[in-house]
Amino acid sequence: MKVLKVTVVGSINMDVVNRVREHPLPGETIIGEQTIYSPGGKGANQAIAAARSGAEVCMVGAVGNDAFAGPLLEVLDGNEIDRSFVQHKETNTGLAFITVNQKGENTIVLSQGANGLLSKEDVFLAQNTIAASDVLLLQNEIPWATTVYAMKIAKAHGVKVILNPAPARKIEQAEYPLIDLLVMNELETKEIFGEEIVSVKDALAAGKRIVQNGIQSVLITLGESGSVHVDLENELCTPAFGVKAVDTTAAGDTFIGAFASVDLKKSRIEEVLRFASAASAITVTRQGAQSSIPGKEEIEHWLEEK
Ligand code: ADP
Repeated sequence: MKVLKVTVVGSINMDVVNRVREHPLPGETIIGEQTIYSPGGKGANQAIAAARSGAEVCMVGAVGNDAFAGPLLEVLDGNEIDRSFVQHKETNTGLAFITVNQKGENTIVLSQGANGLLSKEDVFLAQNTIAASDVLLLQNEIPWATTVYAMKIAKAHGVKVILNPAPARKIEQAEYPLIDLLVMNELETKEIFGEEIVSVKDALAAGKRIVQNGIQSVLITLGESGSVHVDLENELCTPAFGVKAVDTTAAGDTFIGAFASVDLKKSRIEEVLRFASAASAITVTRQGAQSSIPGKEEIEHWLEEK
């Protein structure tokens, strides 16, 4: 069977997670309890999910000139992701400083570093790879002008564009035709389109309006309520699998990467959505981000037992 070729243009981060009893007040210094370094970034997470789900993945991104770059590149290598187009910038690697208190509440300071310097020129270097891909997958953790440029290259070569607009940012109507599939959660749907979603029915109605406004297809994820997929002809609701959630970090990234890795010309979309739901259901039963993303065999085996 032909393996799908997915190129991700996106972020590569190291998450530095500190556990504290209580968050410090301005001017205060406190002693943390534990520090954990955890490779992340939506771009890298989704690239890993797609690779573990069986796609051939190329990552276009950037790391900095600090000690975090090496370990993050090793993670890409370990997942057999082509990183020939990961650039080295004279700044820090993307870092997320996450502080978690005893109640589980987070504060996050994001230092974009190299991700913020990923440029059109960097994407231009990868244009032949993008053109030869089946899917271009993007998020919102790199400069928007770079994302738009990559989408234009993909469109010019008939490559399917999947955009996960997270964190949320407005999309101009003129950019709608560049997107084949927009995948977002309910909060992003509200922030970008002003659509309030409290039920699956709301999500279907929102999806329909977005599609009627000119985006070809929309996939709205609803956490434990599953997801809805809407295009001009069809609408599909996919329930989430009932599992005991331990840590929902990377649920969305796993879902998107797994979905992007399957060839829709060969599989029914219902099956692809079920595969992606299973992948993310497995992820939420485990602690961690990238470490909790399952592989294709595990997902298929898990589905057989359902
Ligand atoms: P994000 O992480 O971007 O907010 P969601 O929380 O909507 O994304 O999750 C994406 C997908 O992961 C959902 O559509 C669902 O299939 C799966 N998922 C998320 N949370 C759970 C859960 N508690 N139990 C089972 N599946 C879940």
